[in-house]
Amino acid sequence: MKIPVLLPNIFNYPFTYKTNNENLKLGDYVEVPFGKTTKIGVVWNKFEKSEKNFTIKKINKKLKIPSLKEDFIKFLEWFSEYNMVPLGMVLKLHLTSNEAIESDNFNQINEYNNKINFKNVKLSKEQKSSVEKVISKDKQFRVHVIQGVTGSGKTIVYFKSLEKKIREGFQGLIMLPEIGLTSEFEKKFEQFFGFKAAIWHSSVSKKKKKIIWNGLANGKIKVLIGARSSLFLPFLKLGIIIVDEEHDQSYKQDEGVIYNARDMAISRASFSNIPINLVSAVPSIETFENIKKGKYYHSRLYKRYLNAKLPNHEIINLKSTNKNLWILSQTIEKVKKHLIRKDQILFFVNRRGFAPFVMCKKCLKVHTCPNCSVNLVYHKRKQNVLCHYCNYKNVLDRKCTDKTNCDFTFSGPGVERIYEEVKNVFPDKSVEIFSSDTMNKKNSPEIINKIINNKIDILVGTQLISKGFHFPHLNCIIVVDIDLALNGYDLRAPEKNLQLYHQLSGRAGRAGNPATVYFQTFKNNNEAISKLTNSDPEVFLENELKIREKNSLPPFERFISIILIGQNEKKVEELSLKLKEKLTRKLTCKVLGPVIAPIYKINKNFRYRILIRSKKPNKIQKNLFDLLNNFKKQNKIKLVVDVDPITFN
Ligand SMILES: [Zn+2]
Ligand SMILES: [Zn+2]
Repeated sequence: MKIPVLLPNIFNYPFTYKTNNENLKLGDYVEVPFGKTTKIGVVWNKFEKSEKNFTIKKINKKLKIPSLKEDFIKFLEWFSEYNMVPLGMVLKLHLTSNEAIESDNFNQINEYNNKINFKNVKLSKEQKSSVEKVISKDKQFRVHVIQGVTGSGKTIVYFKSLEKKIREGFQGLIMLPEIGLTSEFEKKFEQFFGFKAAIWHSSVSKKKKKIIWNGLANGKIKVLIGARSSLFLPFLKLGIIIVDEEHDQSYKQDEGVIYNARDMAISRASFSNIPINLVSAVPSIETFENIKKGKYYHSRLYKRYLNAKLPNHEIINLKSTNKNLWILSQTIEKVKKHLIRKDQILFFVNRRGFAPFVMCKKCLKVHTCPNCSVNLVYHKRKQNVLCHYCNYKNVLDRKCTDKTNCDFTFSGPGVERIYEEVKNVFPDKSVEIFSSDTMNKKNSPEIINKIINNKIDILVGTQLISKGFHFPHLNCIIVVDIDLALNGYDLRAPEKNLQLYHQLSGRAGRAGNPATVYFQTFKNNNEAISKLTNSDPEVFLENELKIREKNSLPPFERFISIILIGQNEKKVEELSLKLKEKLTRKLTCKVLGPVIAPIYKINKNFRYRILIRSKKPNKIQKNLFDLLNNFKKQNKIKLVVDVDPITFN
């Protein structure tokens, strides 16, 4: 008998195989010959009609794994269509690798199977009523947003809703945006539940991944804490999904298969008819709109732990000076007062390295990347100039027009530069940089411990520090250059700033001491700062939503970006124009562009963008997918499709 088998490759349809096994059914995992190798695939539900007459090969064997369930198969098919990704590539996300996934050695899973021992925590009134709301009617799909200022105990609320599901014999999935630094969270989890959750992200070893994959498929692992890709894992009996920090933009996977993991989590829950909790201090614009429309349930926590107040904010207006200093006397006076009180200080500047702009005073040449249309960033500690897009590296030396060395000047602040300034002003204080360059896997637990125990007086950090850490002594934050953030050109910049401010201020004053966030502005951006810092983010979101509606921006219209990428500048341009012409002819929606991408060149490749805008309920993906597939692709020009884009560079 003939059977369709979907394989983890770039094809959008299953391949036909034959078998004598009459019992093979939809969702079974099978091993099949493919070319000169074998592959693991899944028995699918429809044959590919247009498949050519190849000799049909025989399925090698069926694997001993519980088969994929129909609701999950439907989710994968929907995902493929919505994000315009070939079905085989979606299956690849699920199978994670081509290695055999079969395993009957469950001994190694034991580390996740300690006794369940739920801790009895005393809940505040607010928490109690929130828990009641969340767990009522949780037998079917429903989105519940748990909103609360940082430090208000949102985690305990969703732990409780997860606890109920575990008691009922279900598995749970908790998604976190930055999973590299989760050891604090893992400890909290284990203290509450009495057992260990499995952890899933890109740097988990292959061996461990295999154990976790099988443990989930066989229902031996109860809870998984995971990054975006955990959404595709084979839970035997998934009962609830929790998306913590749902507003976080890193839920958007923007390389390889492009998708928004928060949105996809909601549809996975919907296909499986299970509840999903979205958790945030300030919901994303999309979530806010759905709460307003009554599509999502909503409960809110206002009180912080220990009744801690949210930090005050103060604006420090600065006049530009020629001294090239970024921390000025007014700020230093404020910081001194905090230091006397033994407060920990954070200087926030969202840029790695020393300076983003390196120019020679004599020949006026700027250090730019040879592969990308961006400036190189000077990293003083590594003694090089570095491209943050393609990782191109070079020494700082360069021969000038007069045959001597170039004489460089640096402009703009990065964390290393602020670090130096801080060290000059406070030479006897311990200062530490908190960025992805310093916080590697090896030394970050040690630094984080030192911060928690107040062994570090002053931190200089990028937005990495805004991600959910609990630093009890941090009571003073200086936003070094708010003007930089406010100058963003992208349509989501206001929302991003709002999120960032609330994340940052949530780091301060967590142990109940008074805390302040200071904003240094050179451009008198006082009004914009006041809007950001309004203690009720609804005002901001409401206003932002109005602007989006007026201009027909998402979430009121659907955007789909098509980026054309190739080494031959002329050919990329020509093809962009051709594609635009074809899309305009065949689609009923607006097609804008092509325009040169804001970052015109990355890694020696030139980039053009086309933007498609359509009215919301119309799903144009299917049509567009076929159009793009039939569009004669020119050699060496890549088409990248981004549905619901959040960056436009
Ligand atoms: Zn580069
Ligand atoms: Zn020069």
